Amino acid sequence: KSPSTSQPLLPQAAQSLVDSVDAFLFDCDGVIWKGDKLIEGVPHALRALRSLGKKLVFVTNNSTKSRKQYSRKFTSLGVDVSEDEIFSSSFAAAMFLKLRNFPREKKVYVIGEEGILEELKQAGFSCLGGPEDGKKKVELKTNFWFEHDKSVGAVVVGLDQYINYYKLQYATLCIRENPGCLFIATNRDAVGHMTDLQEWPGAGCMVAAVCGTTQKEPIVVGKPSTFLMDFLLERFQIDTTRMCMVGDRLDTDILFGKNAGCKTLLVLSGVTTMSDLQDPLNEIHPDYYASSVSDVVDLSDS
Ligand code: PLP
Ligand code: CA
Repeated sequence: KSPSTSQPLLPQAAQSLVDSVDAFLFDCDGVIWKGDKLIEGVPHALRALRSLGKKLVFVTNNSTKSRKQYSRKFTSLGVDVSEDEIFSSSFAAAMFLKLRNFPREKKVYVIGEEGILEELKQAGFSCLGGPEDGKKKVELKTNFWFEHDKSVGAVVVGLDQYINYYKLQYATLCIRENPGCLFIATNRDAVGHMTDLQEWPGAGCMVAAVCGTTQKEPIVVGKPSTFLMDFLLERFQIDTTRMCMVGDRLDTDILFGKNAGCKTLLVLSGVTTMSDLQDPLNEIHPDYYASSVSDVVDLSDS
């Protein structure tokens, strides 16, 4: 509830941030790109940080792609990022099930796109749903009985542009009727940049639909969940006080970093404006704010 305690990233602050951090966690949309367009200055900034020996990690809540597909997207934009530097919420869903020892003989029902299916399959899980169910229709005739697979032990919900009544019924029956069935949300973003010029409904509304029918709350595995942060910390063994989370959203990215005790930098190249940051109702205050990622290196001496 404190008034904004965020500082602008002036040259001295930029220098001390770069000096005091070993790893930068970058949100993707609004920080690295907007839709399919790279944000100005990004390749130079990432190269400069790499040349200083900083570890770079890319964390996106957009579940529609797998890490492999994101790695290709980076390459097509002319930025060299390897698959093991990418943490998408699609991958987080697969890792959550793996770490929970989700039984291989059970299935996962997916409201979501190819990215989730690819990560689940790569982790060795059998999936149902996804794009394949996008064309399925229900005929609501008298005596119609909707059958669902009783071996589904988890439902994963992410952004799905082909969500329909069939999928909602399927997911609902699994969660309500299969004993112990997990309800996992990749993320709850209200909107996302499905195109570079406009925001579109995000996974939050698909998740809310399933909350509505089941009256249950999901386990969220993307930002700002502690699951994803704990997973990253375990993997990289970096002290959180020497990490900086860079993002364009207060309620996902900045909260994600702050909850773990990381330094936080809000960039204004995405969805958050200066007036959102200074809104008296805003309770999430990053340590620093800057116009874009390139300020980090342009303002410091690096
Ligand atoms: N979900 C969807 C569907 C999106 O389109 C986006 C951004 O484009 C996001 C989530 C947020 O992604 P990020 O965490 O990279 O900002
Ligand atoms: Ca973002």
